[in-house]
Amino acid sequence: METVACDLCGSPESELLLEKDGGRYARCPHCGFIFTNPRRLRFEADNEAAFLEGLARYAEKNYSPKKQREYRRSLRPLARWRKTNRFLEIGSNVGGLLAAARAEGWEVMGVEPVAECARYGRERHGLEILPCVLEVANLPGDSFDVVYSNAVFEHLASPASVLREAHRLARPGGVVFIDTVNYDSYTRRFIGPGWKLIAPADHLSLFTPGTLRRFCAQAGFRVTRVETHGVRLRPNNSPRLRGLARWGEELVKLPLSLLCRWTLKGDSISVLAQKDAGPSTAGASPARPG
Ligand SMILES: [Zn+2]
Ligand SMILES: [Zn+2]
Repeated sequence: METVACDLCGSPESELLLEKDGGRYARCPHCGFIFTNPRRLRFEADNEAAFLEGLARYAEKNYSPKKQREYRRSLRPLARWRKTNRFLEIGSNVGGLLAAARAEGWEVMGVEPVAECARYGRERHGLEILPCVLEVANLPGDSFDVVYSNAVFEHLASPASVLREAHRLARPGGVVFIDTVNYDSYTRRFIGPGWKLIAPADHLSLFTPGTLRRFCAQAGFRVTRVETHGVRLRPNNSPRLRGLARWGEELVKLPLSLLCRWTLKGDSISVLAQKDAGPSTAGASPARPG
């Protein structure tokens, strides 16, 4: 076990927030970032074992026509950033989303530290996926229109270092897109620590809209959009409700889902943040030398 400092503000102080499954989450008293502390060394090895177990079962689901259509729809709003035509995914897993991005016309590349997953995407689907973490991939700077990541940031030991690298890799005016767990959600309040996404063995970092925004800003990005989505009243594995009970649940969920637009308390946070377009784009800033 190793004690770590807050990855967002660097403070060595942290307060115990909750214990679950033999792990501990701490909250930084200065910036509010939530992270496992102390944490196990060699986290990646265990994580990899868990991934491999399910690999055969889920891999091809990511490539089903239905899933591919979903991915492609979700990617379309990002087309407006197309300039170099290069798209990078952090934690691309077996490559399902990258394949959809390729079908949308992007030149795609992924990094995936779980070697078996990277190999799956490379060998079965011809995708360029490097079997490593982003910080050591050594990709060319200023080159990607979009740096994308979904359900990955909660797994990171140091979101700050990944975002710094993402900022280096994005072209001037390019964007980073992140979707991750929202600790400050209605769902977490309803379900409590039993919520399956509160999982200290895998999810080392838990964000709120505020802390994720600050991580992006600290890496040099300008946050242009923060949204949250999803409300659950009961754990994912609860039995399905029937009849009136089901209607009752929907009646509570619907207004909460709508409220998320203002309260930002949906299950997951998605952030879009832009890298400064640089001095060449006139009009962005009225300031002129001399
Ligand atoms: Zn902090
Ligand atoms: Zn996860």
